[in-house]
Amino acid sequence: MSNIIFGPVHSRRFGKSLGVDLSPSGKQCNFDCLYCELAPAKTVDGYAAVVSVKEVTTALKSALKEHGDIDFITLTANGEPTLYPYLSELIDEINKFKGETKTLILSNAANIDDVEVQSALLKLDEVKLSLDCATQKCLQKLDRSHSGIDVENIKQGMLDFSAKYNGPLVIEILIVKTLNDTKEEIDKLNEYLLKLKPTRIDISTIDRPPAYAVQALDYEALLEVSHRFDSTLPVYITSRKKAEIMASSYTDGDILETLDKRPLTQEDIEVLLDEESQKRFQMLLENDKIKSVLTNGVKFYKKV
Ligand code: SF4
Repeated sequence: MSNIIFGPVHSRRFGKSLGVDLSPSGKQCNFDCLYCELAPAKTVDGYAAVVSVKEVTTALKSALKEHGDIDFITLTANGEPTLYPYLSELIDEINKFKGETKTLILSNAANIDDVEVQSALLKLDEVKLSLDCATQKCLQKLDRSHSGIDVENIKQGMLDFSAKYNGPLVIEILIVKTLNDTKEEIDKLNEYLLKLKPTRIDISTIDRPPAYAVQALDYEALLEVSHRFDSTLPVYITSRKKAEIMASSYTDGDILETLDKRPLTQEDIEVLLDEESQKRFQMLLENDKIKSVLTNGVKFYKKV
Protein backbone atom coordinates (compact mmCIF):
# COMPACT_ATOMS: atom_id res chain seq x y z
CA MET A 1 0.00 0.00 0.00
CA SER A 2 1.83 3.09 -1.24
CA ASN A 3 0.00 5.59 1.02
CA ILE A 4 1.76 4.14 4.10
CA ILE A 5 4.86 6.28 3.48
CA PHE A 6 4.85 10.06 3.13
CA GLY A 7 7.60 12.60 2.66
CA PRO A 8 10.47 13.11 2.79
CA VAL A 9 9.78 16.20 4.88
CA HIS A 10 12.66 18.59 5.54
CA SER A 11 12.96 20.31 8.90
CA ARG A 12 15.70 22.09 10.80
CA ARG A 13 15.26 19.79 13.75
CA PHE A 14 14.93 16.36 12.10
CA GLY A 15 16.71 16.94 8.81
CA LYS A 16 15.21 14.75 6.10
CA SER A 17 12.47 12.55 7.49
CA LEU A 18 10.16 9.89 6.09
CA GLY A 19 6.74 9.46 7.70
CA VAL A 20 5.13 6.06 8.25
CA ASP A 21 1.32 6.17 8.54
CA LEU A 22 0.18 3.14 10.50
CA SER A 23 -3.47 3.89 9.78
CA PRO A 24 -3.47 4.75 6.07
CA SER A 25 -7.13 3.86 5.48
CA GLY A 26 -8.53 6.60 7.74
CA LYS A 27 -8.67 8.08 11.23
CA GLN A 28 -8.40 5.53 14.05
CA CYS A 29 -7.71 7.33 17.31
CA ASN A 30 -8.47 7.10 21.02
CA PHE A 31 -8.76 10.91 21.08
CA ASP A 32 -10.93 13.20 18.97
CA CYS A 33 -9.12 16.46 19.68
CA LEU A 34 -10.98 19.68 19.02
CA TYR A 35 -7.95 20.93 17.08
CA CYS A 36 -7.35 17.75 15.01
CA GLU A 37 -6.51 18.34 11.35
CA LEU A 38 -8.46 15.21 10.46
CA ALA A 39 -12.24 15.22 10.34
CA PRO A 40 -14.04 14.44 13.62
CA ALA A 41 -14.37 10.69 14.24
CA LYS A 42 -15.71 8.41 16.95
CA THR A 43 -12.88 7.38 19.29
CA VAL A 44 -11.69 3.74 19.30
CA ASP A 45 -9.53 1.67 21.63
CA GLY A 46 -8.03 -0.46 18.86
CA TYR A 47 -7.56 -0.51 15.08
CA ALA A 48 -10.29 -2.17 12.99
CA ALA A 49 -8.30 -1.72 9.76
CA VAL A 50 -4.76 -3.06 10.19
CA VAL A 51 -1.91 -3.09 7.67
CA SER A 52 0.58 -5.94 8.07
CA VAL A 53 4.15 -5.51 9.30
CA LYS A 54 5.27 -6.85 5.91
CA GLU A 55 3.29 -4.19 4.02
CA VAL A 56 4.84 -1.44 6.16
CA THR A 57 8.42 -2.71 5.95
CA THR A 58 8.20 -3.36 2.20
CA ALA A 59 6.93 0.18 1.58
CA LEU A 60 9.54 1.65 3.93
CA LYS A 61 12.47 -0.27 2.44
CA SER A 62 11.56 0.86 -1.03
CA ALA A 63 11.17 4.52 0.08
CA LEU A 64 14.54 4.39 1.87
CA LYS A 65 16.14 3.00 -1.28
CA GLU A 66 14.51 5.70 -3.40
CA HIS A 67 15.44 8.65 -1.16
CA GLY A 68 18.84 7.53 0.11
CA ASP A 69 20.00 9.81 2.89
CA ILE A 70 17.05 9.83 5.31
CA ASP A 71 17.84 11.11 8.84
CA PHE A 72 14.61 10.07 10.60
CA ILE A 73 11.87 7.48 10.17
CA THR A 74 8.82 8.92 11.93
CA LEU A 75 6.11 6.52 13.09
CA THR A 76 2.79 8.28 13.06
CA ALA A 77 -0.79 7.63 11.94
CA ASN A 78 -4.06 9.04 10.79
CA GLY A 79 -4.85 8.69 14.47
CA GLU A 80 -2.76 7.15 17.21
CA PRO A 81 0.23 4.94 16.25
CA THR A 82 0.44 3.08 19.58
CA LEU A 83 -2.97 1.54 18.80
CA TYR A 84 -1.27 -0.38 15.96
CA PRO A 85 -1.37 -3.96 17.26
CA TYR A 86 2.03 -5.04 15.91
CA LEU A 87 4.01 -1.96 16.96
CA SER A 88 6.71 -3.83 18.89
CA GLU A 89 7.25 -6.37 16.11
CA LEU A 90 7.32 -3.60 13.51
CA ILE A 91 9.99 -1.64 15.42
CA ASP A 92 12.10 -4.81 15.72
CA GLU A 93 11.88 -5.29 11.95
CA ILE A 94 12.72 -1.63 11.20
CA ASN A 95 15.69 -1.77 13.56
CA LYS A 96 17.10 -4.65 11.51
CA PHE A 97 17.47 -2.56 8.34
CA LYS A 98 17.40 1.12 9.35
CA GLY A 99 21.20 1.44 9.66
CA GLU A 100 22.23 4.94 10.80
CA THR A 101 18.72 6.35 10.25
CA LYS A 102 17.02 7.28 13.51
CA THR A 103 13.50 6.29 14.53
CA LEU A 104 10.93 8.54 16.17
CA ILE A 105 7.29 8.17 17.22
CA LEU A 106 4.69 10.91 17.56
CA SER A 107 2.09 9.69 20.07
CA ASN A 108 -0.78 11.23 22.02
CA ALA A 109 0.49 9.29 25.09
CA ALA A 110 -2.94 7.88 25.96
CA ASN A 111 -1.41 4.37 26.12
CA ILE A 112 1.92 5.24 27.76
CA ASP A 113 0.81 3.57 31.02
CA ASP A 114 0.68 0.23 29.14
CA VAL A 115 3.94 -1.64 29.82
CA GLU A 116 3.84 -3.28 26.39
CA VAL A 117 3.66 0.11 24.70
CA GLN A 118 6.51 1.31 26.93
CA SER A 119 8.64 -1.73 25.94
CA ALA A 120 8.01 -1.02 22.25
CA LEU A 121 8.87 2.68 22.57
CA LEU A 122 12.08 1.89 24.47
CA LYS A 123 13.43 0.47 21.19
CA LEU A 124 13.11 3.84 19.40
CA ASP A 125 15.82 6.50 19.09
CA GLU A 126 13.49 9.36 20.02
CA VAL A 127 9.99 9.65 21.49
CA LYS A 128 7.65 12.60 21.28
CA LEU A 129 4.51 12.49 23.45
CA SER A 130 1.66 14.98 23.60
CA LEU A 131 0.41 16.35 26.88
CA ASP A 132 -2.14 19.09 26.33
CA CYS A 133 -3.78 18.80 29.73
CA ALA A 134 -2.81 18.08 33.30
CA THR A 135 -6.41 17.61 34.48
CA GLN A 136 -9.06 15.07 33.50
CA LYS A 137 -11.61 17.81 32.88
CA CYS A 138 -9.36 19.39 30.25
CA LEU A 139 -8.43 16.04 28.65
CA GLN A 140 -12.08 15.20 28.13
CA LYS A 141 -13.00 18.63 26.83
CA LEU A 142 -10.02 19.39 24.60
CA ASP A 143 -8.73 15.96 23.56
CA ARG A 144 -12.17 14.30 23.84
CA SER A 145 -10.49 11.12 25.06
CA HIS A 146 -11.99 7.63 24.75
CA SER A 147 -13.84 6.49 27.87
CA GLY A 148 -11.58 4.99 30.51
CA ILE A 149 -8.52 7.11 29.63
CA ASP A 150 -7.32 8.80 32.80
CA VAL A 151 -4.88 11.71 32.76
CA GLU A 152 -3.31 10.56 36.05
CA ASN A 153 -2.44 7.20 34.42
CA ILE A 154 -0.92 9.06 31.46
CA LYS A 155 1.19 11.22 33.78
CA GLN A 156 2.35 8.22 35.84
CA GLY A 157 3.01 6.23 32.64
CA MET A 158 5.22 9.03 31.31
CA LEU A 159 7.19 9.12 34.57
CA ASP A 160 7.68 5.32 34.49
CA PHE A 161 8.68 5.38 30.83
CA SER A 162 11.05 8.29 31.30
CA ALA A 163 12.82 6.47 34.16
CA LYS A 164 13.65 3.60 31.78
CA TYR A 165 14.29 5.48 28.54
CA ASN A 166 17.74 6.73 27.57
CA GLY A 167 16.84 8.60 24.38
CA PRO A 168 15.43 12.11 24.03
CA LEU A 169 11.85 12.40 25.36
CA VAL A 170 10.10 15.44 23.93
CA ILE A 171 6.73 16.63 25.22
CA GLU A 172 4.41 18.51 22.91
CA ILE A 173 1.72 20.84 24.25
CA LEU A 174 -0.79 22.32 21.84
CA ILE A 175 -2.43 25.38 23.36
CA VAL A 176 -6.01 26.28 22.45
CA LYS A 177 -7.57 29.60 23.46
CA THR A 178 -9.65 29.43 26.70
CA LEU A 179 -9.21 25.64 26.96
CA ASN A 180 -5.70 24.89 28.20
CA ASP A 181 -4.20 28.38 28.49
CA THR A 182 -5.86 28.90 31.87
CA LYS A 183 -3.85 29.52 35.01
CA GLU A 184 -5.02 26.22 36.52
CA GLU A 185 -3.89 24.11 33.55
CA ILE A 186 -0.53 25.82 33.01
CA ASP A 187 0.28 25.72 36.75
CA LYS A 188 -0.52 22.00 36.88
CA LEU A 189 1.38 21.24 33.66
CA ASN A 190 4.35 23.20 35.00
CA GLU A 191 4.31 21.36 38.32
CA TYR A 192 4.18 17.99 36.55
CA LEU A 193 6.85 18.82 33.95
CA LEU A 194 9.25 19.84 36.70
CA LYS A 195 8.91 16.27 37.97
CA LEU A 196 9.12 14.63 34.53
CA LYS A 197 12.14 16.65 33.34
CA PRO A 198 11.71 15.88 29.62
CA THR A 199 14.50 16.63 27.17
CA ARG A 200 12.45 19.39 25.56
CA ILE A 201 8.93 20.83 25.68
CA ASP A 202 7.50 22.00 22.37
CA ILE A 203 4.64 24.49 22.66
CA SER A 204 2.46 25.20 19.68
CA THR A 205 -1.05 26.29 18.79
CA ILE A 206 -3.47 25.53 15.97
CA ASP A 207 -1.65 26.09 12.68
CA ARG A 208 -4.03 24.24 10.33
CA PRO A 209 -7.84 24.24 10.00
CA PRO A 210 -9.19 22.39 13.06
CA ALA A 211 -11.89 19.71 13.20
CA TYR A 212 -14.08 21.86 15.48
CA ALA A 213 -14.56 25.61 15.94
CA VAL A 214 -11.67 26.38 18.29
CA GLN A 215 -9.21 29.24 18.27
CA ALA A 216 -5.44 29.51 18.11
CA LEU A 217 -3.40 31.88 20.27
CA ASP A 218 -1.46 34.63 18.56
CA TYR A 219 2.31 34.51 18.94
CA GLU A 220 2.45 37.09 21.76
CA ALA A 221 -0.09 35.10 23.78
CA LEU A 222 1.87 31.90 23.15
CA LEU A 223 5.05 33.59 24.30
CA GLU A 224 3.23 34.80 27.41
CA VAL A 225 2.07 31.21 28.11
CA SER A 226 5.65 29.98 27.68
CA HIS A 227 6.79 32.53 30.30
CA ARG A 228 4.44 30.98 32.82
CA PHE A 229 6.48 27.77 32.84
CA ASP A 230 9.45 27.54 35.17
CA SER A 231 12.52 29.08 33.52
CA THR A 232 14.52 25.88 34.11
CA LEU A 233 12.22 23.98 31.72
CA PRO A 234 13.46 23.76 28.09
CA VAL A 235 10.32 25.23 26.48
CA TYR A 236 10.49 25.77 22.74
CA ILE A 237 7.76 27.50 20.71
CA THR A 238 7.32 25.55 17.49
CA SER A 239 4.21 27.24 16.13
CA ARG A 240 4.19 28.72 12.65
CA LYS A 241 2.41 31.71 14.25
CA LYS A 242 5.93 33.06 14.74
CA ALA A 243 5.91 34.18 11.13
CA GLU A 244 3.06 36.61 11.86
CA ILE A 245 4.90 38.71 14.42
CA MET A 246 6.81 41.92 13.66
CA ALA A 247 10.34 42.22 15.04
CA SER A 248 10.69 44.97 17.70
CA SER A 249 13.38 47.07 19.25
CA TYR A 250 14.92 45.64 22.44
CA THR A 251 17.40 47.43 24.69
CA ASP A 252 20.21 45.44 26.35
CA GLY A 253 18.05 45.37 29.49
CA ASP A 254 14.99 44.11 27.56
CA ILE A 255 17.03 41.33 25.97
CA LEU A 256 18.48 40.18 29.29
CA GLU A 257 15.11 40.40 31.02
CA THR A 258 13.42 38.37 28.27
CA LEU A 259 16.13 35.69 28.41
CA ASP A 260 15.88 35.59 32.18
CA LYS A 261 12.23 34.63 31.89
CA ARG A 262 12.65 32.16 29.06
CA PRO A 263 15.64 30.84 27.09
CA LEU A 264 15.18 31.61 23.39
CA THR A 265 16.34 29.90 20.21
CA GLN A 266 18.11 31.56 17.28
CA GLU A 267 14.80 31.39 15.44
CA ASP A 268 13.03 33.23 18.30
CA ILE A 269 15.74 35.89 18.31
CA GLU A 270 15.36 36.45 14.58
CA VAL A 271 11.57 36.71 14.92
CA LEU A 272 11.42 38.94 18.00
CA LEU A 273 14.40 41.29 17.64
CA ASP A 274 14.81 43.88 14.88
CA GLU A 275 18.17 44.24 13.14
CA GLU A 276 19.65 46.76 15.61
CA SER A 277 18.50 44.67 18.58
CA GLN A 278 20.07 41.56 17.03
CA LYS A 279 23.39 43.44 16.95
CA ARG A 280 22.92 44.28 20.65
CA PHE A 281 22.19 40.61 21.28
CA GLN A 282 25.46 39.64 19.53
CA MET A 283 27.42 42.10 21.68
CA LEU A 284 25.90 40.66 24.86
CA LEU A 285 26.84 37.17 23.65
CA GLU A 286 30.42 38.24 22.89
CA ASN A 287 30.67 39.92 26.30
CA ASP A 288 29.52 36.71 28.05
CA LYS A 289 26.29 38.24 29.36
CA ILE A 290 24.46 35.53 27.41
CA LYS A 291 25.42 31.90 26.91
CA SER A 292 24.17 29.17 24.59
CA VAL A 293 23.14 25.65 25.60
CA LEU A 294 22.38 22.76 23.28
CA THR A 295 19.24 20.77 24.18
CA ASN A 296 18.48 17.79 21.96
CA GLY A 297 19.71 19.47 18.80
CA VAL A 298 18.15 22.88 19.53
CA LYS A 299 20.42 25.73 20.64
CA PHE A 300 18.93 27.94 23.38
CA TYR A 301 20.30 31.28 24.54
CA LYS A 302 20.15 32.06 28.26
CA LYS A 303 21.12 34.93 30.51
CA VAL A 304 24.38 34.15 32.32
S1 SF4 B 1 -4.49 12.53 18.90
FE1 SF4 B 1 -3.87 13.37 16.94
S2 SF4 B 1 -5.01 12.18 15.43
FE2 SF4 B 1 -5.95 11.78 17.39
S3 SF4 B 1 -7.61 13.25 17.46
FE3 SF4 B 1 -5.88 14.21 18.49
S4 SF4 B 1 -4.84 15.38 16.90
FE4 SF4 B 1 -6.24 13.95 15.86
